[in-house]
Amino acid sequence: MWGVSGEVDIAANLAAVRDRVARACAAVGRDADEVDILLATKTVPAEQIAAAVAAGARLTGENRVQELASKADVLAGLPVERHFIGHLQTNKVNQVLRYITCLQTVDSLSLADRVQRRLEATDTTLEVFIQVNVSGEDSKYGIDPDEAGGFAAEIAQRDRLALRGLMTIGAPGPQEVAAPGYRRLRQIRDQLRDAGLTVDTLSMGMSADLEVAIAEGSTMVRVGSAVFGARPS
Ligand SMILES: *Cc1c(COP(=O)(O)O)cnc(C)c1O
Repeated sequence: MWGVSGEVDIAANLAAVRDRVARACAAVGRDADEVDILLATKTVPAEQIAAAVAAGARLTGENRVQELASKADVLAGLPVERHFIGHLQTNKVNQVLRYITCLQTVDSLSLADRVQRRLEATDTTLEVFIQVNVSGEDSKYGIDPDEAGGFAAEIAQRDRLALRGLMTIGAPGPQEVAAPGYRRLRQIRDQLRDAGLTVDTLSMGMSADLEVAIAEGSTMVRVGSAVFGARPS
């Protein structure tokens, strides 16, 4: 959606996404309050992020360390939770942790250990999600679904990591293609809860497939292009 000046109308786009979320919830008998909207802000200039926050957004997610650092000053002044949603290399942990409130992409024990040690050194804790590769594509990061239970038990033993959720990137294509993977993520979440872990958040669904993700139980959709327009390729 474009405003009269030819600029992307961020407030209108965000309202449209909220409307999609509300309808998707209504279609499956869920309360719209159960689903948070996280802005995926890669390539988005800080002023546009600020515009979305002015329109009511409360969650942001960055993918790249350099970009996070370059926008950190602006983001720090905004009333938002700052998530990291890209792959994090262990040697970048110290750089990233100072800027974020949640790491959604824990995908190896070596990463978890590095984060734990850093949090011990700074005497803090951090909310984390485990990234699970439900689509089985080699190109994607994430724990194998069959190993997610054991992996979560390991994470729960690291006292500086507050395990709160699971995250996945759905299979590309028409929305229905992602549904089985999203269903699998929800099953894993339910099993972890049955095992006594406090894993509530299901971070799944993006601009193109948030409806199917919500139908499968998503509690956090990550939306970029539907709010900010197409990214430069
Ligand atoms: C870019 C990105 C999104 C949002 O993608 P859109 O299709 O622009 O909504 C969500 N999650 C992750 C991990 C991303 O990198």
